[in-house]
Amino acid sequence: MPITVRPAGDEIAVSYLTRLAALHEIPFDVLWAQVSRPRGNGNNTRRLDGDLLACVADQPRARLDRAVVELRDPEPDWLALRHEPQRGCRRCDARHPGGPVLRLLPHHTYVCTRHRIWIGPPDQTDHPQPGLDELPEVVAAQHRHLRLLRRLGPAATYDAVLTGFLICAHRWNFTEIAYDGDAWLDWTRRAELLVPPGTETDTFSTSRLFAATYPEAVAVAELVGPLRWRRLAAGGPDDQRAFAAEIGRRLGLRDYQPTLTQDPIAHWIEQDCHQPPSLPNNDYRSLRTFGGTTFVKPARDSDNKRHLAAYWFAQKHRRGGDAMLHHRALNPVVIRDWSHKKELFTGALVTSLETSFETRRKADVDALVEHSSCYLRPEPVPSSYLDTAKEPVGWSLRTGPRPPVGARPALPGERPKHFFPRNRLRPSN
Ligand SMILES: [Zn+2]
Repeated sequence: MPITVRPAGDEIAVSYLTRLAALHEIPFDVLWAQVSRPRGNGNNTRRLDGDLLACVADQPRARLDRAVVELRDPEPDWLALRHEPQRGCRRCDARHPGGPVLRLLPHHTYVCTRHRIWIGPPDQTDHPQPGLDELPEVVAAQHRHLRLLRRLGPAATYDAVLTGFLICAHRWNFTEIAYDGDAWLDWTRRAELLVPPGTETDTFSTSRLFAATYPEAVAVAELVGPLRWRRLAAGGPDDQRAFAAEIGRRLGLRDYQPTLTQDPIAHWIEQDCHQPPSLPNNDYRSLRTFGGTTFVKPARDSDNKRHLAAYWFAQKHRRGGDAMLHHRALNPVVIRDWSHKKELFTGALVTSLETSFETRRKADVDALVEHSSCYLRPEPVPSSYLDTAKEPVGWSLRTGPRPPVGARPALPGERPKHFFPRNRLRPSN
């Protein structure tokens, strides 16, 4: 091909091919036919071929193997990567011609620290990425996140940061803010910069709410991730008090103690701290779209959903928790493998805010004061996981079936949804 362009780092093959085709003004399918081979086994679809691509794009095979996700050799730790491709930093991408670059980024990438730009979890692909010049603590949180990753490894860090977001999101929805120093006030302040009041229709995205809470999500992750703190949370009343005091301090809560309801921290202490880290619901390599011409994209109605969420955010006193809790990035920690399965997702969200029915029955306090009644487990919880785990902990083996790809898990009585684009080939499964 006359114009040679390099792939960007972590770029997915379809993105690279789309740019090549655009630069040469040839249809995508014509290029695809030159760089793919039939999959065989009676399957009439085609799969990307690295040698053909190296020849057609006039690139060294070794370079493609380093940059193009589908050709990575050796294969990466797929569970440490998101399953949904997304735009990288807009300034880093500006030097790559031919159209948007889609990359498959690791779970721990939220900020381009070089350009101070928010990347966030996969969200709307074409939504403008905010700069972080006025929010240095968000950039600093990315550095802390990477330090945590080096200490704990990808499995524990993935679970811990999502749990941090879950706890912050629930707390952001609370209405009673009594004093200075509460992290709630920081989230509101950051949200005013990222989604200025009155501009919600244009500037709102759930990804920006993740940016507003990222510093505290990482601060909480520094506690819910390490085994030392998990063992305290799983210990007797004094250990739990020590854990509660520290997590309360990190959220700016004075004299915090866990309560029976309206408290995602109490739920985590009771049900999650003694379990292994939760896994991502999917990985890119396991999807049937791998190596083909299509990939998981945001749902087609996602822009309508964004407008609706923007409306509610503006109406509900700009509390961002709801939109975050319904974002697909948090699914794996809202409904964990050991969670009681709920008929509706909203039921699961309420459950993630409270201790078990059994615990509340035993506490025997009036339902009206459960939210202000202290929860402490009377005895340490036995845990073969905590007894034997060593850092960095590896990915645990999935015991149940893999949840379907989608905006959130399909629960009993719900129809699974399909999120494959209609314009190119048919859904591959
Ligand atoms: Zn950048």
